[in-house]
Amino acid sequence: MSKSISINPANEEKIAEYQRISLDEAEQKINIAHAAFKTWRSWSFKKRATLFKNLASILEENKEEYAQLMTAEMGKIIGQSRKEIEKCALVCRYYADHASSMLANKTVNTEASKSYVTFQPLGVILAVMPWNFPFYQVIRFAAPSLMAGNVGVLKHASNVQGCAYAIEEAFEKAGFPAGCFSNLNLSSDSVESVIKNKHIVAVTLTGSEPAGRSVAAIAGKNLKKTVMELGGSDAYIVLDDADLEKATDLATFGRLQNNGQTCIAAKRFIVLEAIYDAFLERYKTKMAAAMMGEPTDDATYYGPLARIDLRDDLHEQVTKTITQGGRLVLGGTIPDRKGAYYPATILADLKPGMTGFDEELFGPVASVIKAKDEQEAINLANHSNFGLGSGVITSNKERGEAIALQLEAGNSFVNKLVASDPRMPFGGIKNSGYGRELSGYGIREFVNTKSIWIN
Ligand code: NDP
Repeated sequence: MSKSISINPANEEKIAEYQRISLDEAEQKINIAHAAFKTWRSWSFKKRATLFKNLASILEENKEEYAQLMTAEMGKIIGQSRKEIEKCALVCRYYADHASSMLANKTVNTEASKSYVTFQPLGVILAVMPWNFPFYQVIRFAAPSLMAGNVGVLKHASNVQGCAYAIEEAFEKAGFPAGCFSNLNLSSDSVESVIKNKHIVAVTLTGSEPAGRSVAAIAGKNLKKTVMELGGSDAYIVLDDADLEKATDLATFGRLQNNGQTCIAAKRFIVLEAIYDAFLERYKTKMAAAMMGEPTDDATYYGPLARIDLRDDLHEQVTKTITQGGRLVLGGTIPDRKGAYYPATILADLKPGMTGFDEELFGPVASVIKAKDEQEAINLANHSNFGLGSGVITSNKERGEAIALQLEAGNSFVNKLVASDPRMPFGGIKNSGYGRELSGYGIREFVNTKSIWIN
């Protein structure tokens, strides 16, 4: 049986190897999960909430350990790793407090003596998760799904199995019954057989478009519901009335946060002609000043990418864009040092048809695009196969809102970087996927919305 290997992307040293489980072992774990579901589903919201509050405390008590592990496995800078754990605790508490009201029966007035809608759990949900937010993506799935009465099995990314086992252990320590949440350390080739397992009732995936297409196709063939949270190439329109200082601050943090590896990161900056040159000049200064360095160093602004192959793929996209006519304003060369580092890079004057415009650039590379007016900016923003997040930067909120409503994306934010918030639904359209996570919308993705009619 093969192993999952964790390699520190900052120095390319092996951290640990994790023996993968066999398909028989996976089946046994799914059987245990199915058995757990039968009891777990009958627990009250209050009883389930107690365990999620325990989990929140365990995450907080072990914050430093988990943050260090995450940083070592995928290179996130340490301060952002700590914040990720804090957000996980917040999401656990949010659903502990609100799941019961979100899933309360809804009376419908009909000619029946009694008619209402009730929300019942489905069973064992498979979560296929990525490495970029190794704790948060998992908790964002698990807290609503388990509070709704489902149980979960996790197929985490191969490069963050240390995090996957740490999360499984945190559930155990919080007192969750065996089988409520388990880690299946499997290769992605084995996912098909897990989806086909009769006890798996639905699948959620966060990751790349190809992974999403493959998993959704297999699940579709087996008539299992899916939620897909895939990539994005989020456009931020910078209007001519924008405060350039604020706009370039947002653009810098938005592109370098999580070392540029966020699905909802600001990726394409569509800037009106009147301020294009001024924007680029300031943006270049700020991106150049952001310090690339060791992810464990508190002074670092951004660290390495999660893996060498991802860094090399990104560099290829940059090189291709330049040969297609994109203008390299900053960065664009692989540094001469160990680790999966890539410098803050700006590609300007991009147009549809160029790689940096059309594809997701998962790293610290900004695509800057000139638009002659507001309408062209909207058209360019919507000229994308993706539709996850989007933004408008302006000093006129009404103008920003009017544009936000026209952007083809699951999330449109004005004067703020798109961020997931448990109170708001999160997800995409087009090739960014379908379905929603978080809020009352997310928790209802994996329930049987059942009509009860009493004559
Ligand atoms: P993947 O989408 O390949 O990996 C995400 C998860 O899906 C992992 O658990 C992976 O397992 C699993 N997986 C991959 N392919 C399949 C498959 N065919 N069937 C079942 N499971 C699968 O991301 P990568 O790590 O390869 O990154 C590649 C690109 O994906 C990035 O450059 C970025 O553009 C995008 N991406 C987007 C993310 C987002 O948040 N939207 C998150 C991560 C990546 P395993 O690790 O074992 O292969």
